[in-house]
Amino acid sequence: MSESEAKPERRILKNPALLKYIFETSCFPREHEQLKQLREATDYISSILNTNRSLMNVPVDESLLLSMLLKVMNAKKTLELGVFTGYSLLTTALALPADGKITAIDVDKEAYEVGLPFIQKAGVENKINFCQSDAFTVLNDLITKGKEEGSFDFAFVDADKDSYMEYHKLLMKLVKVGGIIAYDNTLWFGTVAEPEENVENFAKQSRKHLLELNSFLAADDRVELAVVSIGDGLTLCRRLS
Ligand code: SAH
Ligand code: CA
Repeated sequence: MSESEAKPERRILKNPALLKYIFETSCFPREHEQLKQLREATDYISSILNTNRSLMNVPVDESLLLSMLLKVMNAKKTLELGVFTGYSLLTTALALPADGKITAIDVDKEAYEVGLPFIQKAGVENKINFCQSDAFTVLNDLITKGKEEGSFDFAFVDADKDSYMEYHKLLMKLVKVGGIIAYDNTLWFGTVAEPEENVENFAKQSRKHLLELNSFLAADDRVELAVVSIGDGLTLCRRLS
């Protein structure tokens, strides 16, 4: 098991032995070979840059859940906000049918290029339209210029946490009724349930925005809501109207 997978601090499940059990028994044996290699390449680069950025990839248990969800709902056309090295993107690309299409947006193209060789080896690059841009700009363009309202089956939101509320407004137009918007990291390593004075400074601002988002979504009767305590918290919204 790679080092980043074993670390419980960015996960809701804090028991390292239980995490290890789940990953080793049920998840790693099911991980696609190119996802495994992409994850290892991300770990390697993070270790030489001496950052913890490999923790940004969705963990393998969450990837398996997303993959099943996409297949059950027959998703064909999706959005991804926040790609990084592409672990969740490759998960999606593998789960979509051969004619599936993903509009994937990130301000950072260098990180995407770390994962691209594995996406190519998996034979799914043709499903991906990568846009190097701020997510807000692309979503706005899809609405105003692209006339793509109501045309997406699924959106995975994992970019800057401070903008999730803004993204929600736009995604409620772009994702079709019956489609799903999935927000990642909505439990922000558990800090949403901690008093602010116990929260480390770096986490405070996004925590505040996520608290606002979580309350907003709980009261938003345009969506059916499920908060899944996997990874760092995954909130699923199914558009009802
Ligand atoms: N979904 C990825 C991880 C994404 S990490 C995975 O699970 O593998 C978050 C990413 O959001 C970073 O790569 C960062 O560059 C990107 N990001 C941050 N702010 C953004 C913005 N305003 N628009 C688009 N991408 C943004
Ligand atoms: Ca994430």
